[in-house]
Parts: sequence; C-alpha cells; structure tokens
Amino acid sequence: MKAEGGCLCGLVRYSIEADLIDAGFCHCTLCQRSSGAPVLAWLTIPLSGFMYTKGDVGRYASSADHEREFCPGCGTQIAFRATLDPKTIDITLCSLDDNTRVAPRYHIWWQSKVAWLQTDDDLPRYMDAGPDSNHEN
Ligand SMILES: [Zn+2]
Ligand SMILES: [Zn+2]
Repeated sequence: MKAEGGCLCGLVRYSIEADLIDAGFCHCTLCQRSSGAPVLAWLTIPLSGFMYTKGDVGRYASSADHEREFCPGCGTQIAFRATLDPKTIDITLCSLDDNTRVAPRYHIWWQSKVAWLQTDDDLPRYMDAGPDSNHEN
C-alpha cells in the first residue's frame, strides 16, 4: 500500500510504501491511557516502508521494550515500535489521511476492553496479544 498521514496540527507528516502486515483494534490499558480513548486501531507494516516526511516526533517508552511516537505540538499518537532493533512498526490507523483504506481485522487485549464499549462485529477476539499481532504491551 501507498499512503500518507500525519498529526492533527500538521507538524508531523509521514509516508508509507509497504505491504500491509495486518491491522487490528488494541484494547490494552497502555493504548487506552496513552490516547485517552477506549481503543486504538493500528496497522502494522515493515519498518522499511515507513518514513517521516515532516517534523520531529516525541518518544515515550510505554513499556520496557516498546516506545510510542507522537507529535510534540498536538499530542497525536502516530506510531508504536520495539525499542531495540524493530523490524515492523505500528501506525495509528486514524492518522492516515484516508482512514478507510484499511479496516481492522481482529481485536486484541480483549481482557481489558472497557465494559461500556459495545462492538457487534464478527472479528476474532483475543484476550491477550493474539497469534498474529506483534503489538505487544
Ligand atoms: Zn501535531
Ligand atoms: Zn495496545
């Protein structure tokens, strides 16, 4: 896929030219707290296919071995990757200019789904990180 995206204020822009690995909803407590939202939708691509084209992101180590990248101007969360030798990168699906390009295919960390969030899709639900996702927390 080829796509572009960026943050709310326009300071940070990125481009993607890569094969999509997968996309899914993450209900983990770290995604919840870091966004203030009940769930985040991510797409995963090879790191080699991702490039920032404008601005410098802030970084926060949300766990011992992963970090999150965000716009220092407006706080939009852009990316999630392993701290050491990342091969893939997760991008927040709704930071894409066209967020209809990819649809989530599963739910992970269902064990921490907010009780009042209702979903009626038929996607697989995994209590933890699931078999296909490299989105670990
Ligand atoms: Zn911004
Ligand atoms: Zn998560």
